[in-house]
Amino acid sequence: MSEYGFEEIETRWQERWRKGRTFEVTEDPSRPKFYCLEMLPYPSGDIHVGHVRNYCITDVVARYKRMRGFNVLHPIGWDALGLPAENAAIQRGVHPEKWTRDNIASMKRQLQRLGFSYPWSREIATCDASYYHWNQWFFLRMLEKGIAYRAKAPVNWCPKCQTVLANEQAEGGACWRCHSNVEERELDQWFLRITAYQDELLDDMAGLSAWPDRVLLQQRNWIGRSPGAEVDFAVEGGGSIRVFTTRIDTIYGATFVVLAPEHPLVASLTAGAPDRTRAAVARLHAQDRRARQAGQVEKEGVFVDRYAKNPFSGERVPIWVGNFVLMGYGTGAIMAVPAHDQRDLEFARRYQLPVRVVIQPDGGELTGDTLKAAYEGPGRLVASGEFSGLDWEQAKERMAAHAKAQGFGKATVTYRLKDWLISRQRYWGTPIPVVYCDRCGVVGVQDRDLPVLLPKDAPFTGEGGNPLEKVAAFTHVPCPQCGGSARRETDTMDTFVDSSWYFYRYLSPRKTDGPFDSASVRYWFPIDLYVGGIEHAILHLVYSRFWTKVMRDLGLVTFDEPVRRLFPQGMVHRDGEVMSKSKGNTIAPDEVIARYGADTLRLYILFAAPPEMAMEWSETGIAGPHRFLQKVWRLLDRHAETLASEIRKPMPAELPEPAQQLRRRVHQTIQRVTEDVEDRLHLNTAVAALMELVKEIHRLEPEVTEGPGRGALQEALETLVLLLAPFTPHICEELWARLGRRPYVVDRVWPQADPEVAQEETIELGIQVNGKVRGHVRVAPTTGEEEILRLALEEPRVKEHLAGKEIVKSVVVAGRLVSLVAR
Ligand SMILES: [Zn+2]
Ligand SMILES: [Zn+2]
Repeated sequence: MSEYGFEEIETRWQERWRKGRTFEVTEDPSRPKFYCLEMLPYPSGDIHVGHVRNYCITDVVARYKRMRGFNVLHPIGWDALGLPAENAAIQRGVHPEKWTRDNIASMKRQLQRLGFSYPWSREIATCDASYYHWNQWFFLRMLEKGIAYRAKAPVNWCPKCQTVLANEQAEGGACWRCHSNVEERELDQWFLRITAYQDELLDDMAGLSAWPDRVLLQQRNWIGRSPGAEVDFAVEGGGSIRVFTTRIDTIYGATFVVLAPEHPLVASLTAGAPDRTRAAVARLHAQDRRARQAGQVEKEGVFVDRYAKNPFSGERVPIWVGNFVLMGYGTGAIMAVPAHDQRDLEFARRYQLPVRVVIQPDGGELTGDTLKAAYEGPGRLVASGEFSGLDWEQAKERMAAHAKAQGFGKATVTYRLKDWLISRQRYWGTPIPVVYCDRCGVVGVQDRDLPVLLPKDAPFTGEGGNPLEKVAAFTHVPCPQCGGSARRETDTMDTFVDSSWYFYRYLSPRKTDGPFDSASVRYWFPIDLYVGGIEHAILHLVYSRFWTKVMRDLGLVTFDEPVRRLFPQGMVHRDGEVMSKSKGNTIAPDEVIARYGADTLRLYILFAAPPEMAMEWSETGIAGPHRFLQKVWRLLDRHAETLASEIRKPMPAELPEPAQQLRRRVHQTIQRVTEDVEDRLHLNTAVAALMELVKEIHRLEPEVTEGPGRGALQEALETLVLLLAPFTPHICEELWARLGRRPYVVDRVWPQADPEVAQEETIELGIQVNGKVRGHVRVAPTTGEEEILRLALEEPRVKEHLAGKEIVKSVVVAGRLVSLVAR
């Protein structure tokens, strides 16, 4: 008897796959394709169990589809640019590129040790100049189309380090290095006009039927399309305030107006106000904008001692400045309707402002003074002048039309989505390929001069701004247009640019005259399955959709959406908390693999929870799957040698009962595992079915080892190895070879269930009517009495004999007969 020596087996098979180029693929029009994608990792230093979970899911599907005859592409790469590498450079004096490449090397080794089925020849790293070259090329095309543009935008600025900080470097308003208070500064920055695609991004969600609703909902909310109206409130003493509202039907209930602290009118409105009013406004203005956006600050406001006129009611309403109003949404000013907006109600109660009900629900009798919570639902208008009595939906239309006719407003749509700010004032990113010339203005770098390379010799001190600014050879360049002396842009691109199109580059990773090969795209796209964390529901997954639409408008692809099916896997928890590097509770797979092997780790992760649900990591939980694999090993070990030497005979038509039972279970298991993997990705129940199969083989083993049942044992063991192979490929390759089977399991055909064999065994019961057998019924041995009786009464001959009579007694004798007494 041999031991399950997982380490030797796993490394040996990994070596064979590598040498045999087993997972390398090319386009093959004769076969159906399957593009199986996982989110490419950031090379932070170590693969952790969260990554492993993501990649185990895709690896099972990739291997399964391959066995089903698909031409499978399952590539991997590295999202290798970004802040942590630059932070490491500042803190430890190691160049970002060295830090990144070292991390990639060690993570690659970890992935290879897990036996994932990657075509390594297609590996890409976004920090390769041959990759970011094409970021620059795309940027230039967008610049030509007006999709890329430059505008002022605020950044976090550390006055002590004299540098721009990323949001994550300025958490809580303090610099991550020197803890100084972070200031806000306006800088010229580059944007991509994603808002030009906002309606399309919303409308095309209708076609994303294989995306989870929760992802689409998050995207919809992020884009935040709100139909509403804009209305002007005239300010006493001159000028007017334009407000945006989604509820113009409630305008008679508007008892005050609130401006965002950064609203451009605030300065003139407070010009004559007392110092303490101006100071209070300045304090609101200084509050952390991100915290305000997230609703994490207490609602506060300042009355500026000015009034406006409600254009519908003519009523005089006070003007406030409030921290809960944001400049980035709508017009940066709102009409406050406390009776019908919870946020406004909280503010009104705090400052004792009037609350007036103007919408009554069916049968409702709300009053402003006693209102505990704002009523935001449907109803009819009351106390609304000529509009009283209208239904709210009808009122929205009529009142917007009225505002337009009177010249003080109109129906409009507003979006929460903002254009994508891609400028980063940092080194470790894709240089934005433009040059500033005093004579020609902003000039794009010529295509033939791409890529604009990152200079190797930039200083990393963390002070004095972007390191690129200090490299004279980088910044001083001739103007591409007039040849005069010019200055190169030092901003680099947001790394979300890199991840917006990387899945196209896998198709032709070494192509030098374009980002990808169109024929390859036609063959492989769309991505059939994309697995990754739910935290990427917005940003990455919206940017990727946007990028594809831009590419389509540039004539590079012919479709609108890159991903057919999206599957967000659940997180990995440990001791009830999400496993993450920042919490320091991650598990490195290396130790687990050393102790139990890669197959055990894979099986444990897949078995522990349904893939879309959170899984709790447990040190003890891993022992079960390990024991299971040892059991499988010993089971095959007992029979492999003799089975390998036997010639496989056709299955005899008549088999002894235990062999029939075994075959039934084998074919039922094929059905279950296939369904679980194929549609639902219920990989955990697929594993459970395989565990049950092993139990059944054990139970029947003594009766099928010798004699005519032996064929069933052989079939059971071979099927077990094939079905288990996508989950635990190394041990299965080894066992397959020991069974004397060739070629590799990965190239075997997935087993087909024979529905007849899989069918549950049935027994025949006679049906007696008044003591005489009048018919028969076939049922499974487990069928209940009630069901047997129902079936018996449906038998035509039995019906005949019961016609016109009443059943006075019925007995089911288990396994034998049904007896009916009728008069
Ligand atoms: Zn600082
Ligand atoms: Zn010029």
